[in-house]
Amino acid sequence: MKIENDNILNIFDLCEGTKALGPGLRFVIWVQGCTFKCKGCISPYGQAIKENILVDVNVLAQSIIKNKSIEGITISGGEPFLQVSKLHKLLKVIKEQRPELNIIVFTGFDLEDLDWDEAKDFLQLVDVLIDGIYIEELNDNKGLRGSSNQRVHFLTNKLILNKDVFENSNRNAEVIVANNYKKIIGIPNKSITNLI
Ligand code: SF4
Repeated sequence: MKIENDNILNIFDLCEGTKALGPGLRFVIWVQGCTFKCKGCISPYGQAIKENILVDVNVLAQSIIKNKSIEGITISGGEPFLQVSKLHKLLKVIKEQRPELNIIVFTGFDLEDLDWDEAKDFLQLVDVLIDGIYIEELNDNKGLRGSSNQRVHFLTNKLILNKDVFENSNRNAEVIVANNYKKIIGIPNKSITNLI
């Protein structure tokens, strides 16, 4: 399913401020749709390739720009690179007015495979990319990557001093339960993932 309008992003969810997905208080965008189908995926409801919540890129950009308490943005999924040209547009608008915001992106692709033009343009605006599919058996309960096969790429030096947070630190996840809906913000330890 492809949304033809270049200004419309299909998302699974948003969070206006959390400390569970990277250094400092962060705005989080979870995009809708992923084709990797990893066993034990932290975001199973975000996998379906379907129209979910549609947001105008410029409207979303303005709400992030106005949010003065955040230090960065985390983009996760779903799979961000399935909507990469729209995310590139979003970050370009934001960076013009808030260049200090740092950007973390999670993807199931390997960095080496992100070799098409739109992906490369987007990566120019990303500070840290965490790549690779999630392999449940390799979840070692460490850092911000879900499993030890995933790599943390510092594409700029902006967050390099936080290397340990990404690779080794204890995890910090928020679990929100409402009716039949469970929402996890952050990378949970394996014992919590198994409860999803
Ligand atoms: S790449 Fe991420 S969102 Fe996609 S199925 Fe794997 S864990 Fe889930």
